Amino acid sequence: MTHLAGFERPLSGNTMLRVHVIYGDRYALMVDTAMRGYEALVQEALELVKKLDVPLAFIVNTHAHHDHIGLNRWVQQRTGARLAAHEAGCRWIEDADVNYREFVLGFPQLVSDSPALRREVRETLGEPGKVDLGLSGGERFHLGGVDVETVDVSGHMFGELALLVQQERTLVLGDALIGLDMPMFHGYVSARRYRKTLNTLRDLVMTGRVTRVVSAHLPPLEGEAAILAAIEARAAHVDRIEAFLLDVTAFAPRTLKDIWTMLSEAMGKEPEFRGLTMIANHLHELCDQGRMKLHQGLYQRVFESS
Ligand SMILES: [Zn+2]
Repeated sequence: MTHLAGFERPLSGNTMLRVHVIYGDRYALMVDTAMRGYEALVQEALELVKKLDVPLAFIVNTHAHHDHIGLNRWVQQRTGARLAAHEAGCRWIEDADVNYREFVLGFPQLVSDSPALRREVRETLGEPGKVDLGLSGGERFHLGGVDVETVDVSGHMFGELALLVQQERTLVLGDALIGLDMPMFHGYVSARRYRKTLNTLRDLVMTGRVTRVVSAHLPPLEGEAAILAAIEARAAHVDRIEAFLLDVTAFAPRTLKDIWTMLSEAMGKEPEFRGLTMIANHLHELCDQGRMKLHQGLYQRVFESS
């Protein structure tokens, strides 16, 4: 018997936006709440819960990006559900202005505030909910006949969770398997942390704990081979970006703006704020590792001395 249902609407292009409901005999929980403009999608999920005649005890946000949290308060007002989220994401969940500023406007000299960006991100954030339960991975929810374990899958975002529906060996993700076919870099905030998450996902599959993956934007993945292929594609993506960053700074020092423009061009992506944050943070990690240096606003690769 299944304990999981997904609800979806198109987001843009081939990309979908999904929320999930996990339900047992005692209560249900909703994974993510989409964003403003998707009230009908979330309403469909609430109607299932109503039909099941169990309380919606929790909303669990996978991470604090606008398209996963925008209707938190909207759902709470209709159900009384408590809000649970990774403790590292609480600031963004509880303050829409902080969320917008830190997500979109981290480099105001390169990406400035605009009506288009406000429409895309700020205005999709509804009235914020207050986080009732801070999580960090390893918590368990006993829904009655089905058990859910949280897994820390940070890297795309600081503080991201996956939900493992144990009896179904199904992992419910937000964006931990980042989109590779989107017109922009879906991105990661830490290459190091994201690679660790890919290892975590690999382990869950290799130990037989996960045989199916559902997520907010990707088609469902069935079976070990399909899931492992998706993980390896993300690992190769990060490696390719890293190789580019090292190559492009090998013989000439470059500004962040130049590197951002060149990488976006090379990989056929729109140069926008997500990719910019990803690149800046990846460069910063390479500096920390002694493989890159930053001097007067210019990044240059450091070769190991022989
Ligand atoms: Zn995201």
